[in-house]
Amino acid sequence: MSASIDLYAVIGHPVAHSRSPAIHAAFAAATGQTLRYERVLAPLDGFAQTLADFADQGGLGCNVTVPFKFEAFAAAAERSERAELAGAVNTLQRDSGRWLADNTDGVGLVRDIVVNAGVPLAGRRVLLIGAGGAGAGVLGPLLAEGPAQLVLANRSLDKAQTLVARHTDLARRHGSELRSSGLEAPGTGFDVVLNATASSLGGGEVPVPASVLKPGALALDLMYGPAARPFLAWATRHGATGRDGLGMLVEQAAESFAWWRGVRPPTADVLATLRAEVDATQGH
Ligand code: NDP
Repeated sequence: MSASIDLYAVIGHPVAHSRSPAIHAAFAAATGQTLRYERVLAPLDGFAQTLADFADQGGLGCNVTVPFKFEAFAAAAERSERAELAGAVNTLQRDSGRWLADNTDGVGLVRDIVVNAGVPLAGRRVLLIGAGGAGAGVLGPLLAEGPAQLVLANRSLDKAQTLVARHTDLARRHGSELRSSGLEAPGTGFDVVLNATASSLGGGEVPVPASVLKPGALALDLMYGPAARPFLAWATRHGATGRDGLGMLVEQAAESFAWWRGVRPPTADVLATLRAEVDATQGH
């Protein structure tokens, strides 16, 4: 009888585009782990059932992507502090028949900025644009780096205000000034500008004035591929250094992998391979 292979998955809708299976297969190969990682398409009204079926099949852990991060939060029996703060979950792990939950998006973004891009956040002025699921997920880990100031700007001001209120204690603990803003005048001359909106998906304009960029600032769009291009071009045009969300994608996956398997995978080679693939599909 062959031993069963440890089973993991990404659950989403849509999910066919997900690069997570390739990323986790590369992590498994690099760390000598034996596992299977699949894509699971859940019906829009069927996340809970899909998760239950996955558990019945012996699934040990999963990533959760759009639009189920809030349902994953609700499905969990226990959540990490950062998942509680985010109100959204992207990683689940089964333990004694229950699902434990984490949100690795924020720590993935921070690692990409601080380690991969070599840009410290401590003492810096940071503008985070977008208060949707992604913005909520990254706010806590950004504050934990101790920026001097973090402004959360969003089209719907009330959403930014709600998130800021939830993170006020954390900001105080790390000595950061935290405030909310609309998009028209969030402030000027930030060291780091992060686009966590879906505005570029529809080919839309960058939703803030270029004066938000300090010369030489890091301007990072959480998206990657063609959708990130207008933001990156805008950043370069205005004297900033553009960066897309591929590094965050790989780093959040590494954090999930480390939690599930107890071993941290190296990420540089996986990121380089993925970057080459994405550039090739963009006609570079
Ligand atoms: P949500 O749908 O939860 O939130 C969308 C956000 O975009 C809201 O803040 C919304 O503002 C804003 N927005 C949408 N359209 C516009 C517009 N035309 N002008 C200004 N603001 C706009 O999406 P998510 O937060 O889940 O995802 C945001 C992006 O982050 C996605 O593109 C996703 O691909 C990316 N992402 C990347 C990850 C990675 O690993 N690289 C991980 C997670 C996400 P309002 O509240 O006013 O509606």
